[in-house]
Amino acid sequence: MLAQLSRYNAGGNVMTISNSTSAAGPLIERIAAIVGPQGLLTEPRDLEPYVVDWRGIYRGATPAVVRPASTEQVAAVVKLCTETATPIVPQGGNTGMCGASVPHADGSEIVLSLARMNRVLEVDALNNTMTVEAGCVLANIQQAAAEANRLFPLSLGAEGSCQIGGNLSTNAGGVNVLRYGNARDLVLGLEVVLPDGGIWNGLRGLRKDNTGYDLKQLFIGAEGTLGIITAAVLKLFPRPAATATAWTAVPHPEAALEFLALLRRHCGDRVTAFELISRNCLDLVLRHVPGTRDPLAKERNWYALVDLSDSHSGHALRSELELALEAAMEDALVLDAVVAENEGQSKALWRIRESIPEAARGEAGMLYRHDISVATSRIPAFIEEARAALEHRFPGVDVICFGHLGDGNLHYNAFIPGRSRIAAAARVARDVTDLVYDIVQRYHGSFSAEHGIGLAKIEELRCYKSAIEIELMRTLKHAIDPGNIMNPGKVL
Ligand code: FAD
Ligand code: ZN
Repeated sequence: MLAQLSRYNAGGNVMTISNSTSAAGPLIERIAAIVGPQGLLTEPRDLEPYVVDWRGIYRGATPAVVRPASTEQVAAVVKLCTETATPIVPQGGNTGMCGASVPHADGSEIVLSLARMNRVLEVDALNNTMTVEAGCVLANIQQAAAEANRLFPLSLGAEGSCQIGGNLSTNAGGVNVLRYGNARDLVLGLEVVLPDGGIWNGLRGLRKDNTGYDLKQLFIGAEGTLGIITAAVLKLFPRPAATATAWTAVPHPEAALEFLALLRRHCGDRVTAFELISRNCLDLVLRHVPGTRDPLAKERNWYALVDLSDSHSGHALRSELELALEAAMEDALVLDAVVAENEGQSKALWRIRESIPEAARGEAGMLYRHDISVATSRIPAFIEEARAALEHRFPGVDVICFGHLGDGNLHYNAFIPGRSRIAAAARVARDVTDLVYDIVQRYHGSFSAEHGIGLAKIEELRCYKSAIEIELMRTLKHAIDPGNIMNPGKVL
């Protein structure tokens, strides 16, 4: 189901429920007794930021936003909700892409925000771990790691507002997956409040622990449907002393892939990020984002943005990158390149990449987004086949293709210029998306590489996951949350 189709109570039709008159009244009073006045919001204007997703696509309603200050408070609230069969929507920074953090429009669900549980509990530099509460904002975690001369590598555009509990619940990706993995790979231990109000304390900082099922991984990527993550033990890494960034023009995606292989041969796991960008993405940014310019003199069709990082000095790292670039040019894998000479230049190159979604919004027309993955080796064939199929079916379509080539993950968006939002019937959206996902399916890929399912992709889940996988997921959900109070209606 497409976002445009599945608007939750679209059109701003918010249900507001007054405490004094609703059936929720006595429950709210009991919750207030647990979390105190600071831990509860019930005024409609206070609730507003919690009932709409950041893109404004999904709008729900809730009688209350509960903001506990401790794991014990979370557990007591969840226990009460189980007793009264009151559904709960856990919420972090509310930056998710699939509507998973927004309550149902019927006003039956409470929102449980982790925002007040924002303490870094421990940094163990010699164990290379930190223990944090779930409501810590990602940028603050990165900062706390840096203060201990370590790196917490998870990094994404929303890092100033998203919370680690949300990052883990969506198994967030971002730009450093190539070297450090997804959020799932960065966790050693979890604390979770289960749907019956029990607390599972799995806050162990162990790198080896083969004592049965790896339970933490169940809750990571579960989008709040199995329990509430209240704290986590995260992995830390040596803090790079230097980064080297290059903006390179490549003749085509196959060459980009060969270039990535060459870079890894030359520079090993110092290759931290490798982003593929099509020319029309750069054009969009140059048109809509003030202060940007084409980094190269000559226009080319495809680009790769590359980051290396290491504990060597910046000079040595830049020389290494330059040597690899020379080799890639000799093999005709790279046509032109510019290496950033300082942090400012590096930031300017990354700004181009990070501004693409914003720039696309500035264009008149309809953008159909797809966050897909296929085996990295098959990316070039996928790009070509999907482009040809889209152009055949929708003459005039523009493919806005960019993303994390090294992870096999592309933001493969189809842009139909000139169509007004109203004229773009839901059916067209559906046709575009079905066409792309059917090809993804043939490539044994994923229709949601980074952003999850939430409300936005429930229909795709039913369509593209095997019956066995769906049945296993339902069995797990039922076993852990038999009363279906944890974020009901999302994912499954
Ligand atoms: P929310 O949106 O609040 O919640 C997301 C889901 O997690 C919901 O299902 C919610 O119920 C659940 N949840 C939240 N906290 C908890 C908890 N403590 N326990 C249990 N369940 C919980 N995502 C990427 O993967 N890669 C990117 O590069 C990326 N870039 C982005 C750039 C921008 C500008 C924006 C706005 C978003 C981007 N995102 C990206 C999407 C989003 O930032 C991530 O999904 C992020 O991990 C969500 O974190 P959050 O705290 O905002 O979670
Ligand atoms: Zn991405």
